[in-house]
Amino acid sequence: MNTQVVSLKEHIPHRAHASKKDFGHIVIEDVEIVFGKGATSSQAVKKTSLEIKPGEFVCILGPSGCGKSTLLNSIAGYVTPSSGSVRVDEKAVSEPGPDRGMVFQQYSLFPWKTILDNIAFGPKVAGRTNVECSSIANTFLEMVGLSKFAHKYPAELSGGMQQRVGIARALANYPSVLLMDEPFGALDAQTRLMMQENLLSLWSEFGITVVFVTHDVDEAIFLADRVLIMSASPGSIIDDLHIPLPRPRDPAMATGSEFMALKKVCLEQIRAESLRAFEQQNM
Ligand code: ADP
Ligand code: MG
Repeated sequence: MNTQVVSLKEHIPHRAHASKKDFGHIVIEDVEIVFGKGATSSQAVKKTSLEIKPGEFVCILGPSGCGKSTLLNSIAGYVTPSSGSVRVDEKAVSEPGPDRGMVFQQYSLFPWKTILDNIAFGPKVAGRTNVECSSIANTFLEMVGLSKFAHKYPAELSGGMQQRVGIARALANYPSVLLMDEPFGALDAQTRLMMQENLLSLWSEFGITVVFVTHDVDEAIFLADRVLIMSASPGSIIDDLHIPLPRPRDPAMATGSEFMALKKVCLEQIRAESLRAFEQQNM
């Protein structure tokens, strides 16, 4: 991805005059999520309340199956809570919307569309003209360093490149919130590190709120302002850890004593939760 991120100010009129404080405020109040009904129902997320401030970078960290995706999907509007409410910028979430961009672990691009058309899809659905769609798509493609690949198809790109397209496609709707579900989970370690650094550049340029789900402790600490640690299933947030590492973040920080101390706190909690989950499954 381009380390020289293209300036977005001129391309994002509604943000040009807005401060970061104006968009991407998430309030989760007493949300409980249960799948199924009656005897076969199962609770995925315990009653949870949470506030994420505009422009924050928050990672949700927890063992597999603890309800991270379910909680994220309730912000996206793909999952309706059984009780409680989710609000984004004072509006109750009842369905997916262009104010909340989503990036999944599977690249989920349209295989029959070119890279440019994949990115232009959202703006097109929003009713923008062909000229506008093309201009927006080219801007975001340049931002993720893939201009040369505009007319290729997803299958012709590597996993890392496809995920950059996924991010560009989500951002092309000018969302106030970017929701990411283990987006770099399928990438090799080297590509993953590069993607993390570049996501941080985009985030600082864009001023967007990011909620990023991962089960990788290093990734969570490197990226986040706050790491929310979830308990084993049914999930609830058991810790809200402030990450005071300075920005811009540098991969070299990962070997520093402050990073190590934070990692120790996270690992101890995750280990205790994983053990608890294992014992529950084997009871
Ligand atoms: P994580 O993302 O932390 O791995 P998930 O949020 O995917 O966990 O899943 C949490 C729990 O909810 C799991 O037990 C999973 O099987 C269950 N679950 C997730 N989605 C559904 C669904 N659509 N229907 C029924 N159960 C589900
Ligand atoms: Mg998941």
